[in-house]
Amino acid sequence: MDLTFASISEIAEAVKTRKVSAKEVAQHFRKRIESLNPKLNAFTSLNPVAVQDAEALDARIARGEDVGLLAGVPFGIKEMFCTKGLTTTAGSKILENFVPPYDATAVARLKKSGIVVMGKLNQDEFAMGSSNETSFHGVVKNPWDLERVPGGSSGGSAAAQASRLVAGTLGTDTGGSIRQPASFCGIVGVKPTYGRVSRYGIIAYASSLDQAGPMVSSVKDAALTLEVISGFDPQDSTTAQKKVPAWSQNLKADVKGMKIGLMKEYMTGNLHPDVQKTVENSVDTLKQLGAEIVEVSVPMTEFAVPVYYLVAASEASSNLSRYDGVKYGYRAEFKNLSAVDLEEFYSQTRGQAFGAEVKRRIMLGTYCLSSGYYDAFYNKAGQVRRLIMQQYLEAFKKCDVILSPVTTAPAFKIGERVSDPLAMYLNDIFTTSTNLAGLPGMSVPFGQSQSGLPIGIQLTAGHFEEQKMLNVAYALESASLVKGKHPHVI
Ligand code: GLN
Repeated sequence: MDLTFASISEIAEAVKTRKVSAKEVAQHFRKRIESLNPKLNAFTSLNPVAVQDAEALDARIARGEDVGLLAGVPFGIKEMFCTKGLTTTAGSKILENFVPPYDATAVARLKKSGIVVMGKLNQDEFAMGSSNETSFHGVVKNPWDLERVPGGSSGGSAAAQASRLVAGTLGTDTGGSIRQPASFCGIVGVKPTYGRVSRYGIIAYASSLDQAGPMVSSVKDAALTLEVISGFDPQDSTTAQKKVPAWSQNLKADVKGMKIGLMKEYMTGNLHPDVQKTVENSVDTLKQLGAEIVEVSVPMTEFAVPVYYLVAASEASSNLSRYDGVKYGYRAEFKNLSAVDLEEFYSQTRGQAFGAEVKRRIMLGTYCLSSGYYDAFYNKAGQVRRLIMQQYLEAFKKCDVILSPVTTAPAFKIGERVSDPLAMYLNDIFTTSTNLAGLPGMSVPFGQSQSGLPIGIQLTAGHFEEQKMLNVAYALESASLVKGKHPHVI
């Protein structure tokens, strides 16, 4: 069995039936990480006892215990998730040495189903960014072209998965952070419906938008992983009391009679010709497979980027106020602490440990929430957000799934946009409205640029309609010409 390219279910099956031990799997991937990570910078830290964890699992299998659906599958976890005993920095100096005493629910559920945590994955600081360039741990390289960004904020997850340093990864998506890096690195990334996956133990960025999801190598692996992490959690009052369907077992590549919506507002944009072509090819493919293509319209998406940046920055400014250097995390050094007043204490600590992008967002968000501006900015953004959602609900009366580009162009060069925050924010033009409306969305690899960079297709469905979205993705994946293509670095 070629472990490097094996699917999640193949590895789990082989471990359970003892064709391969979890220990061998962990050692195999540990070696890959050791040889490739120095080039990519995808992992920020490794689980020092990953191989021992795998051995413990093997012992349980030998005793005949049921070890779960994902037995022995090596996973990498984005820095945003609390992991018991493993550093959780959120890509920030302010949490440089933070070791949580508990696991995020999504991680705990994966562990319960038998995964082996290999380590933590790089990301933009507090998940604020689209290129992984805001990380305190340094930029991640795109394994398809080391001069390019992997996307962000879950760039470490996307790069690690694309180069098969693990068999599965977890990411988070507040405005596109799972889908955009998935598209840039040629993997499958799913942001589920808001409320599907518990946010308990995930470092909060913008709580009304944040969702966690799988970033893996196939639609089936995504469905399987999502099944494990989804479901009501008493620790997160925003999780839905909904049954979690067996998405992986119900996957069907049959799209005959399905209505695929093309959003008028997204099809007229200034698309890179290779992205345009990939979108056209995906539409042709679905037509050939018997789907019906319909035009839909969500006019208010025109405002998605500004609304997103107002809502996200406002919530972030509130969420990040907890990093004050008092209870945990980084604290500025003072010669005589007792002589320092509180304001000086906070401003030194936060001034030294937050990066420029995080500071920009805190300032923007604090401004939006301040008295006199609250109604004009934060409230107004909330009203437009509601309209975007209502227009989506209308659109989903006419179609099952909406198909669109993920980004206007393939992965850009490292350094190309760092000095222009607006150019960076505009990267999120096709992804943020999904979060504002709380809808499920995903990216599935479907095309390639002239120079060989991966290009994904974005699919969005109605609330809790993940199955429809996954089925269309499965159909596209089955017909995809880029299937089986791997980055040069491996
Ligand atoms: N690029 C967006 C931002 O910077 C989205 C990030 C995310 O989804 N976490 O906020």
